Amino acid sequence: MEERIRELRKRLQYYSDCYYNEDNPVVDDFTYDKLLRELKQLEAENPHLRTEDSPTVKVGGRASGVFSPVEHRVPLQSLEDAFSYDELLEFDTRVQNVLGKEYEYIVELKIDGLSVSLEYENGVFVRGATRGDGIVGEDVTANLMELKEIPKVLPVSYPYLCVRGEVYMQKAVFEELNAMQEILEKKPFANPRNAAAGSLRQKDSSITAERKLSLFIFNLQLCEGKVFSSHRESLSFLKSLGFPVSPYFNSFSNMEDAFSEITRLGDMRETLPFDIDGAVVKIDDFSARSLLGETSKFPKWAIAYKYPAEIKETKLKNIFIQVGRTGVLTPNAELEPVRLAGTTVQKATLHNYDNIRDKDIRIGDTVRVRKAGDIIPEVVESVPEKRTGTEREFLMPENCPVCGAKVVRVEDEVAIRCSNMECPAQILRSIVHFASKDAMDIEGLGPQVVNLLLENGLIKKVSDIYALTADKIAALERMGQKSAENLISAIEASKQQDLSRLIFALGIRQIGKKAGKILAKNFKSMQAVMDAGVEDFVGIFEIGEISGKSVVEFFSSGANRQIVAELDAYGVNMEFNDDSVSEIFLNKTFVLTGTLPTLKRNDASKLIEDNGGKVSSSVSKKTDFVLAGEEAGSKLKKAQDLGIPILTEEEFLGMLSETSD
Ligand code: NAD
Repeated sequence: MEERIRELRKRLQYYSDCYYNEDNPVVDDFTYDKLLRELKQLEAENPHLRTEDSPTVKVGGRASGVFSPVEHRVPLQSLEDAFSYDELLEFDTRVQNVLGKEYEYIVELKIDGLSVSLEYENGVFVRGATRGDGIVGEDVTANLMELKEIPKVLPVSYPYLCVRGEVYMQKAVFEELNAMQEILEKKPFANPRNAAAGSLRQKDSSITAERKLSLFIFNLQLCEGKVFSSHRESLSFLKSLGFPVSPYFNSFSNMEDAFSEITRLGDMRETLPFDIDGAVVKIDDFSARSLLGETSKFPKWAIAYKYPAEIKETKLKNIFIQVGRTGVLTPNAELEPVRLAGTTVQKATLHNYDNIRDKDIRIGDTVRVRKAGDIIPEVVESVPEKRTGTEREFLMPENCPVCGAKVVRVEDEVAIRCSNMECPAQILRSIVHFASKDAMDIEGLGPQVVNLLLENGLIKKVSDIYALTADKIAALERMGQKSAENLISAIEASKQQDLSRLIFALGIRQIGKKAGKILAKNFKSMQAVMDAGVEDFVGIFEIGEISGKSVVEFFSSGANRQIVAELDAYGVNMEFNDDSVSEIFLNKTFVLTGTLPTLKRNDASKLIEDNGGKVSSSVSKKTDFVLAGEEAGSKLKKAQDLGIPILTEEEFLGMLSETSD
């Protein structure tokens, strides 16, 4: 028993850390909640095994060292969970025992985002913080300033006012963000909650601004100079001050009616533009709240009802392949239609081929389906007991179903991809990548413009961008003459980019920015790279056989060779220029920490990489330099412990200018 309790605490602590502190959950909420319940049950049965630091009594997060700590004047507590009507009734009995028969409940949406406090002094927004462990949070004022919905100055001035709300990301914004992550080949966010948390906890507030976060205020924490008697009254007051107060808060005189409201809100889930993970039932009257009191983790006057994740069984009729914008082939299940969380589901993702094999999912199987993060339906597992013997194993195709080119599986990657740069399914990605800042750096040629050009048939492949004219672009909707001319100048200027950028820009798997530089330096011309065999790559420092195979594979496609020939014909530079690659930091590994006085992180990284160095995220014995700015945290300490040279920005820039003299 003791062993199990210890193990549960350890696992829950780890999951919490990934979820709250890294914004990167490794299990779904359902699994987390199940384990937490088991622990709660075991602790209730064995009171002598309870501890003060158990996840059952502590609020989940922790204030990271990335932001300054903020001590909350009123703690930001968590909420007790209920997963059934019976549990709500048990809560109601506890309330009745203290309050007797007369009390009002308010039912609100439980928006799935992250909790923040906003503080105002004399009517001016002065500080915003995350929840952290409920007592100490992180100062994210600069980032919250970017949220348009937060009033920066209130129409009435109280000496001190503090409100609590939930920062969240709308479903549509989330989908757009993940589509962009895919195009840029970055890891997609697991769900809107984690996207919101990751977007708010950014060192660079311009990233928060781009992510279009929203906010709901659900509580008045403290208002010096004004007294309130109920939650409803305080919410109406906050609304009158211009705060975006949660849209639904109705009151009920018993739990039965409150539960009908919870069910009604649950039925609305699909139609809401944001995610909710439950509904919250709260006592309205403040003096009644005081009588009920609180524990160290949550108030005893409120409870959160969590909607169950619906799982249904259905038949998997077939498996078909979709080719994503990055060229990844994703297997999808065609299902016998089934009602799930408010919609009819006929299609669900199977993620990748390994997943199908590991779970032994076969065509014709009965499968269990659910909506992951409430958005994309997924096949959870098959039900082998229901097999009839007619089920078939699924094999991945060897050719891309869209263009017929060979598919490749890059070693160490789960994904299987189409190898053709011209494949219609991935053309958008390849052009956006080609034009991106680290590649050919064509300003103004981002996803929207590329999409517009593709939709209007002005380009069909990467090389077509060099045949564009300002007049053709200006004739398109939403494009003016001036921006068209700027775009043409940027395209023209990109012809002079060095060979290393061009190699990277082609989007060859395994060939990143650094590999592009190494290949340019070793082969000296595009023609030489194209003519090389795998053996020519083996032995090149930091390249090796896997990357070599990938390059050879890429140029085995006639279409890809044709694109390079066309780029050459348009005058794009194909030769190595010795001056373009500096080696000041060759083979040196840097770690960046803290805020630098003038350089942004990206700029510092670029300077290091442009000069032959490498940037790593963690300090180890292999680190050569740590570039440290203000509020540097644990990385600086580790570097000091390991005796690694620590540079200020000034020293770093000094090293660059010394060598370039
Ligand atoms: P909680 O999310 O269950 O409830 C408290 C939070 O609800 C508050 O912090 C507040 O921000 C929010 N909230 C939204 N609307 C509200 C409203 N109208 N009134 C009051 N509060 C409102 O508790 P928690 O401790 O923050 O987190 C537990 C949740 O996090 C569980 O759902 C759990 O599954 C999930 N979790 C998941 C993992 C994982 O690995 N998947 C790990 C840890 C926690």
